[in-house]
Amino acid sequence: MRALIHQLFETSTLGREDLIHLINHMDDDDRTYLFSCALEKKRAFYGDSVYMRGLIEFTNYCKQNCNYCGIRAGNPSVERYRLDKETILKCCAEGHALGYRTFVLQGGEDPFYTDDILCDILSTIKSTYPDCAITLSIGERSLESYARLKKAGIDRYLLRHETASPSLYKELHPNMSQENRIQCLHTLKTLGVQVGAGFMVGLPGQTTEDLVDDLLFLKDLSPSMVGIGPFIPQKDTPLGHASKGSVEMTLLMVALTRLLLPNALLPSTTALGTLDPKGREKALKAGANVVMPNLSPTDVREQYALYDDKICTGDEAAHCRQCIEGRIKSVGFYVDMGRGDHPDFAIEKEDKKRYAHLTRFA
Ligand code: SAH
Repeated sequence: MRALIHQLFETSTLGREDLIHLINHMDDDDRTYLFSCALEKKRAFYGDSVYMRGLIEFTNYCKQNCNYCGIRAGNPSVERYRLDKETILKCCAEGHALGYRTFVLQGGEDPFYTDDILCDILSTIKSTYPDCAITLSIGERSLESYARLKKAGIDRYLLRHETASPSLYKELHPNMSQENRIQCLHTLKTLGVQVGAGFMVGLPGQTTEDLVDDLLFLKDLSPSMVGIGPFIPQKDTPLGHASKGSVEMTLLMVALTRLLLPNALLPSTTALGTLDPKGREKALKAGANVVMPNLSPTDVREQYALYDDKICTGDEAAHCRQCIEGRIKSVGFYVDMGRGDHPDFAIEKEDKKRYAHLTRFA
């Protein structure tokens, strides 16, 4: 087991069979060792820093029907909302005053937001806050649309691949195509956008083999960011009664991703914090280096219910900022309020300095 972990640490690769063996036969000591290796890798690139992103959940309308997701079109129990331009800009203003230099705008696939409307909002954010990075996360769009959004100012795009298994993907996503989703990731990459892929852990029917295929898919795609979270049932969805994913397995996937993609930006996700009060701290100790506190207006937070019992829905932005900072410090790391671009995209002097010094570890 140690030899396999060592090989992974040294070469950032491991074959499919070896990964399956590692995951299926690991004991507690092996896991502790693997997490310490992942943390050492993270430190080689990012030191003890953790990047902060301000999350703005700007619409919960969605035309898709993902079976796991609480804001799927077919859920009549959600009260729908959309934030107008003025409200989104107010969230950015509050975030900027709190020190955030990345805004993540996330939402369902909401046809209301045409390219014209989005580009107007994005270019206004960009001209008001030229020192900030913008991340968008609104699902699948056309090449033309992504190109316009890039031109309007987006720096990054989060589009989890959700699962690399073709059969599981098909089962979970009525009327969607895995091929198209993966094509979107490639399109965004080609456009020069920092791309975030990722997957859920513990989906009904998901096997170790499927998870290893997620890891190998990521290795092959080599995205700038990887979001990994446990599946958590939402009561009004077709999977409302399914079992939730495990925190342990999610942490293992975070650590393995760190070792396979040493310089990726890896968020410690809210879903982990939902299942375990110390879940986010544990992820930071297993190689994650990004957190995404909420900047959405508190009166809509409950309505962005992707899954049940989501945490932080009642907290003001300033409170979230403080709470997360405390958690980061409690495990020995410090908050970095810079833009926090991926090393391949670094434009900020601070980032460049940091990475120039550290890339000798690559
Ligand atoms: N519409 C955007 C954003 C989707 S919501 C898009 O298509 O990318 C953001 C992420 O939440 C999803 O990618 C999914 O991985 C996660 N998510 C949705 N429902 C979930 C659930 N029940 N449990 C855990 N994560 C969930």
